[in-house]
Amino acid sequence: MDFLPIFLNIKDRKCLLVGGGEVAARKAALLTRAGARLCVVAPSVSELLKSACDPISTEYLESEFHNSHLEGAVLAIAATDEESVNRQVSEAAREKGIPVNVVDQPQLCSFIVPAIVDRSPLVVAISSSGSSPVLSRKIKEIVETHVPARAGELAAILDSYRNRVKSTISEFDKRLRFWESVLDSAVPELVYGGQEETARGLLEDMLQHASNDSEAVQGEVYLVGAGPGDPDLLTLKALRLMHKADIVLYDRLVSPEIMARLRPDAEKVHVGKQRQNHPVPQEEINELLIKYARAGKKVLRLKGGDPFIFGRGGEELARLAEANIPFQIVPGITAASGCASYAGIPLTHRDHAQSVQFVTGHIKNGEYALEWDQLIAPQQTIVFYMALVSLEAICEQLIQRGKNRETPVAVVQQGTTSNQRVVEGTLANIAARVAASELKAPTITIIGDVVRLRDKLKWFMGDEEPKAAG
Ligand code: SAH
Repeated sequence: MDFLPIFLNIKDRKCLLVGGGEVAARKAALLTRAGARLCVVAPSVSELLKSACDPISTEYLESEFHNSHLEGAVLAIAATDEESVNRQVSEAAREKGIPVNVVDQPQLCSFIVPAIVDRSPLVVAISSSGSSPVLSRKIKEIVETHVPARAGELAAILDSYRNRVKSTISEFDKRLRFWESVLDSAVPELVYGGQEETARGLLEDMLQHASNDSEAVQGEVYLVGAGPGDPDLLTLKALRLMHKADIVLYDRLVSPEIMARLRPDAEKVHVGKQRQNHPVPQEEINELLIKYARAGKKVLRLKGGDPFIFGRGGEELARLAEANIPFQIVPGITAASGCASYAGIPLTHRDHAQSVQFVTGHIKNGEYALEWDQLIAPQQTIVFYMALVSLEAICEQLIQRGKNRETPVAVVQQGTTSNQRVVEGTLANIAARVAASELKAPTITIIGDVVRLRDKLKWFMGDEEPKAAG
């Protein structure tokens, strides 16, 4: 992070604004909105600027800038056309330890002014650390459309209940739950719809209930599919629960970009598994889920892809059901779908494949318990999960059982992420090509004529591998 985002209280504090033109007028309006006692320094101050300021509290010094003007200021903004004046303001302010901003000259700034979505008291500030103000504005547009116009009213109402809630519900965890339940209730929509009184009534009811409710908080488990890696492939429900959870048990397959979307203060427990190396045995994970839920926590079990596809989600839920723990399950985009899409391979196609099978390449007790006769049938696509190590053996088996050795195969490494790589070949040569390309797990193997369509359909990043030997 290049800058620390903070919100500064400048109410009734002296803020120095150097400049008298249009740009200065915009800054004057902003500082005035935040309640500053403005001191404007410029040889001549435009009417536009004056109209943006509070007529009573603003002081105008129609002169050149002198370092002494900074005396007593908590903030300085330079918005003049004169490079030398801007520099002088910047240097003098820094010397005095006063935060300074020079409009459009990041190298002279000790702070930058973000793009803001103002629903006071709710304010969203957006910054690209000066790298692209246009991008910040675009993001601001997105936020503008998502934050209801009356979100500020909602914040003010919640604020007006803060002290009462604090004295009624003394336990921090319970208080957190209470506020969450308010925000999940009809209260926000009522406020957004202009029905403040009804909203207050409902909030009163909830508070009444909460104060009489001395029971332990009920925990809950969310079993959530995090998709194959790209955070944009998370479902809305997954994101919502990710923001709600107190504690997160996550797998090795969950990408760092997805972990970054969790509630920042959520406790994170890694229970990931690697081949031949199970740091936390499945039984222990099941018991951890129960333990945390019984302690009243909202527990997020975050799994790569879809929890019900080679994810042992069923086993975890069975144990929760047995222990009477409430749970929710959220499907995710499974690796086969994600990787196929981002590699440009349709899994079915009217002309090439009428069905698709998801198969595990993981060998149990040294043997494949697979229906090979089904796997060699024509007009279908087979997707192997967990098949990097066994790729050669699988291809050999398929050829031995009668599958055409020229059947196209694609192996996708870390699909949908910026590390996605795709190696193409045939049943006869793919194992050698993959070995030569040094692909790393996780990979998915797609077998079938649909792989040929990739030439026309691939679109995601410059991921094509030079065809390696073999
Ligand atoms: N529940 C997961 C699968 C878990 S099994 C899902 O629905 O996707 C683990 C296997 O998934 C890995 O060995 C690999 O074959 C596959 N996999 C998961 N994420 C992947 C990714 N981003 N790219 C390629 N393969 C992936």
